[in-house]
Amino acid sequence: MKFKILTLFPEIIEGFFSSSIMAKAVERGLIEYEILNIRDYALDKHKKCDDYPFGGGAGMVLKAEPLALALDSIKAKDKTVIFPTPSGVKYTQQLAEQFSKESEIVLVCGRYEGIDQRVIDEYVDHEVSIGDYVISSGEISSLVVIDSIYRLCDGVITKESLEEESFQGKYLEYPHYTRPAEFRGLKVPDVLLSGNHRVIEEWRCKKRYEKTLNNRPDLLKD
Ligand code: SAM
Repeated sequence: MKFKILTLFPEIIEGFFSSSIMAKAVERGLIEYEILNIRDYALDKHKKCDDYPFGGGAGMVLKAEPLALALDSIKAKDKTVIFPTPSGVKYTQQLAEQFSKESEIVLVCGRYEGIDQRVIDEYVDHEVSIGDYVISSGEISSLVVIDSIYRLCDGVITKESLEEESFQGKYLEYPHYTRPAEFRGLKVPDVLLSGNHRVIEEWRCKKRYEKTLNNRPDLLKD
């Protein structure tokens, strides 16, 4: 899987690709990435990438030209281009699974009020929202999208780790405990120390159901 990311703040993206499990996936050749600094594609001498919105109103908008030139330089019209934005469709595990089957994904990181609509019209295949709230940086939402996709790619993490995760089926995940068996007087449930795998499995099923009912009853609607 190759990720190409257009951003005004490459250092935010670079930090993620050079840390933890992602760094190992890159080292092992499972994931490739290229960061394009949008400013490098600005044509004027001040390298200006934003401007005032037509029609008035607060804030600035990322200009079409530097974005379009950056997208052209990687032939983005032949690739899957994602623009994370609060006005996109709700981003879900299902979409992450769909995107993880692609060989290459381009992400456009918005800033300020967003990007010129003509870039969306011409290049973007998917506008996705990471939740019903507004953050200030498209780098963060692009990293959320990247993180949810790359961990599903073959060989990045074990299949067993993915199997019982939240959103794999209709239930959320059960609670986890690790050593010590007692922490500040709080004990790990006896069943987890029993060594009886059938009983442990039953307990986990019950906890998954309880957790889903309490935190996300909407998932149980059907
Ligand atoms: N004016 C925009 C609106 O009201 O829809 C919000 C722009 S936001 C301040 C700046 C950038 O952060 C967006 O262009 C987008 O890239 C990113 N962003 C903010 N909230 C997001 C969300 N919920 N999902 C995905 N991206 C988001």
